[in-house]
Amino acid sequence: MNTLYIVVPCFDEEKVLLNTAGVLGEKMKALVSGGKISGNSKIVFVDDGSRDRTWEMIEGLSAGEPVFAGVKLSRNQGHQNALLAGLLAVQSEADFVISIDADLQDDPDAIDRMVEEYISGCDIVYGVRRSRKSDSFLKRVTAEGYYKLLRRLGCEVVFNHADFRLMSSRAIEALSGFREQRLYLRGFVPLLGYKSATVEYDRSAREAGESKYPTKRMLSLASDGLFSLSLRPLRVVAAAGVVMLILALALLVYSTVLFFSGQAVPDWQIVTISVWCVGGIITLSLGIVGEYVGRVSIDVKRRPRYVIERTAGLDGDGGSIGRGSV
Ligand code: UDP
Ligand code: MG
Repeated sequence: MNTLYIVVPCFDEEKVLLNTAGVLGEKMKALVSGGKISGNSKIVFVDDGSRDRTWEMIEGLSAGEPVFAGVKLSRNQGHQNALLAGLLAVQSEADFVISIDADLQDDPDAIDRMVEEYISGCDIVYGVRRSRKSDSFLKRVTAEGYYKLLRRLGCEVVFNHADFRLMSSRAIEALSGFREQRLYLRGFVPLLGYKSATVEYDRSAREAGESKYPTKRMLSLASDGLFSLSLRPLRVVAAAGVVMLILALALLVYSTVLFFSGQAVPDWQIVTISVWCVGGIITLSLGIVGEYVGRVSIDVKRRPRYVIERTAGLDGDGGSIGRGSV
């Protein structure tokens, strides 16, 4: 029988923790009694250096019922690191793991459908928000605009998916091969390539406590995503340099025609040609240097070059993970 671990990152969540534990505990019980998951399944709270009583409450929960467990980080490391810490801590014990925020803004009832997709053979199931009614106008527009921008830059992101997600143990193992320090997990997971599905749900408002993602953190997460998933911004710089050089050349041709047809060449044209020419060369050079820097940044990450999904006719379990990087 499949063992499910639910990983819940928590930062100063004393106001919602007991309610969340109750709701997820009931969900677990229903799944166990429905024969979908094993009785060894657990809910693991990751305390991300909370300053309130979150950890004491987690300890209390795990002392009270074996279904609850906890991991405490030594200090606040941010949601993405806390989430990864939880996934890696449980990966060897679980067959599959679902991550969900402590405030239960993501609908816990979608977990049933996620489990069904796992049972029918998916390694990854993305929770996708059907609507963003609970978000402010500004957050909705900027978030959706950001996903569109990432798509335009060639990144494989799942539209309106955050970190409510099911992953099989082998998918987490493959994810552990992503070595970057600054994480944008929702952008990395699609790169693993395993069979995936999406499950839609309505996102509700936070019941208590306040958001731990102020605008500054949102922007930092957004830039981590952009820069770790795409080198295209560098190429835009190089292309801008080329455009400036072309403009300088066109103006040069025009001025030369004027000169040979006996007309006066205005001073501004001569100045503009040299400014655009030098500007174009500098910008293009930046783009070229940037291309090398970009390639270095890819190499230092040492991401797996490939993930083997299964093998046939070879020794082993026929479903092992191959890592391309050494
Ligand atoms: N979180 C965390 N560490 C942090 C910030 C947030 O573990 O430094 C957790 C938080 O407890 C919650 C989840 O990340 O479980 C999402 O945070 P929040 O609900 O505040 O974000 P929002 O829904 O407003 O984007
Ligand atoms: Mg939230």
